[in-house]
This record gives sequence, C-alpha cells and structure tokens, in this order.
Amino acid sequence: MKKTSADVLPVEGVYGDEPLLAVDDLHVEFRTRAGIVRAVNGVSYTVNPGETLAVLGESGSGKSVTAQAIMGILDMPPAHIPHGEIRFKGTDLLKLSEEARTQVRGQRIAMIFQDALSALNPVFTVGWQISEMFRVHRGMSKADAMKKAVELMDRVRIPAARQRVNDYPHQFSGGMRQRIMIAMSIALDPEVLIADEPTTALDVTVQAQIMDLLADLQRESQMGLILITHDLGVVADVADKIAVMYAGRIVERASVHDIYRAPAHPYTKGLLESIPRVDLKGQDLYAIKGLPPNLLELPTGCAFHPRCPYRQDNCVTDVPPLYQISGTRGSACHYWREVLDGER
Ligand code: SF4
Repeated sequence: MKKTSADVLPVEGVYGDEPLLAVDDLHVEFRTRAGIVRAVNGVSYTVNPGETLAVLGESGSGKSVTAQAIMGILDMPPAHIPHGEIRFKGTDLLKLSEEARTQVRGQRIAMIFQDALSALNPVFTVGWQISEMFRVHRGMSKADAMKKAVELMDRVRIPAARQRVNDYPHQFSGGMRQRIMIAMSIALDPEVLIADEPTTALDVTVQAQIMDLLADLQRESQMGLILITHDLGVVADVADKIAVMYAGRIVERASVHDIYRAPAHPYTKGLLESIPRVDLKGQDLYAIKGLPPNLLELPTGCAFHPRCPYRQDNCVTDVPPLYQISGTRGSACHYWREVLDGER
C-alpha cells in the first residue's frame, strides 16, 4: 500500500513551535446500550521535552481514557473519537494508518500501567519479558537482548539484576514489579512516557522511591512525562504543571506552584484539603461531598455544581468555559476570583 504523508512522522527538530505532544479539544465517547457515555469532553493539554504534566482527578474523570486515546489502545468501537487532535511533533496521530501508529506506540510514546502484577506475564521470566522489546523491535539476538535487559534492570535500580534476571514476576515485591514495568516502558527510549497511577498499589515509602526513579530517568533522557494520578500529594515534588479533570473536562490548569499556593477551582481546593496533614492530627479528614457524576447523564451547567460549596443559581444552567486567568493558568469556574481570594 502506498504511504501517505500522514504515515511518515517528522524527524527530530522539524516540528518548529509545536509542543512535543499536544492534545487538542479531544472528545471521546462510548456508545453503549444504555446511551452515550461522554468520557472526554474537549480536553486540551501539551507536554514538552523534559517536562512533567500531572493529570489529576477521581475515577471516571477521563484522565486514563485520554491517555489510552494518545496510545491508540481504546477499543473502537465501542469507543469513538468524534472530534479533536492528538499531535506528536506536529503530526496528528489520529490520522495515521494503524501501521504507522504501531511504530509510535511503545517506541516513541510509552505507557506504564497501574497494576504491574497483571500487566506482567506470570509464566515468563522478567528478563525474557524485558528482552522481548529488543528482540521484537530492534531485531537483537537472544543473548544481546538479555544483556540489555540486565542493563535496564540495573538502570531502574533492581538489586542484583544479573542474578534476578531469570526470576518470575511473583518472586518480586510490588515496588520491584513496578520497576520492571518501568524498565519495559523505557526500553526503546520513548520521547513521551505516560505513567497511569504508577504508585497506587504501593506503600508510601515505595511510592516515593518510584516517583524519584521516574524523575531521575526523565532528567537523564529529557522525556516528556504525563503522570496520571488521583493524589495531589504524590505530584507536588515532581510535576511542572497540573491539569485537574472532572467529568471529562479540564477544570483547572496551572503550574504546581500556583495550584498549591492558591487553587482557582472549588474542586481543586477540595482535593488539596483532602490531603492528610500531620499538623491536623486528631481532626476529621476533609472529603468532597457527594459522588462523581454519572457520565450518561451529566448535570446541567457546571458538572461540579451538585457538590460545590460555591454554587450560585447560574452554575446550574451555564457551562463555565475555561477562563484564562494568566498565560499558563485557567479555571472552569464562574467564581474563580472568589475561590482564589478564599472568600467563602
Ligand atoms: Fe462551583 Fe459554580 Fe464554580 Fe461550578 S461554576 S465550580 S458550581 S462555583
């Protein structure tokens, strides 16, 4: 089959002012028997080399679906992308052939999944699974690919890598399994790495180690990193900027510094107040009231209005646009000024 220009990705450096990765007005819906589930409703964000974007939100906010759309791993149907672009170095991935998309997936853009135990194959050694990346994608011999696997296990700081390369996934702890997943994801030197809740199943100490490891790897290779999480506490030290998602939309975006100093959306404010603090020992932990909305029947107006302590009458009828507060900051709240000023 003759290749179109869309099948050929631009080489390094020709994408000019375009970000490394740009998600632009992306919509993803699932057509189910019960109706249309609008999982992603006009999401836009960018990531540049060496930059870390944290995408934050509760389950069902659309953060993982957006990531799966970037990777091209959504089951279509039932998933459907009626509108939007996902540009990698200026090329819209949604217009690529499946063959070209496969070239990007894993090699140029890679993903770490949250459940390392189920993502690893229990019947193959970890060395075999890591070295498969080099055998399949780089055409290396078994012996050379296994050497690369040991190098990668060293790089992600698995102790005694040479001795452990022939162990099976169940012989490793949860933290070590996640390191093996990270090793597999960076094997082919991707330019963008998406980490979907990479520390969810781990205890706090191991969480910190994994986040440090990701930050170090990113510094070494200047990857763009998209960190998907529901936990604002996890991203404080590693992210450059944050996009907060609710009901399939970005409701606030800002630098980490701005968000922690003064959130401009009531939902972000609630997430920050939900982080446990040692200085508030003995007090009840704050929780945002209510539940995330049913995506089959989104509330009218602002989707957060049933849970929002700042709600006014127009919030029930008028969908707030993402108000531009400054060059890098936006909030989808009609009353962002009051929230910023802490007036309620
Ligand atoms: Fe709350 Fe209204 Fe702002 Fe929505 S628009 S977050 S309901 S104050």
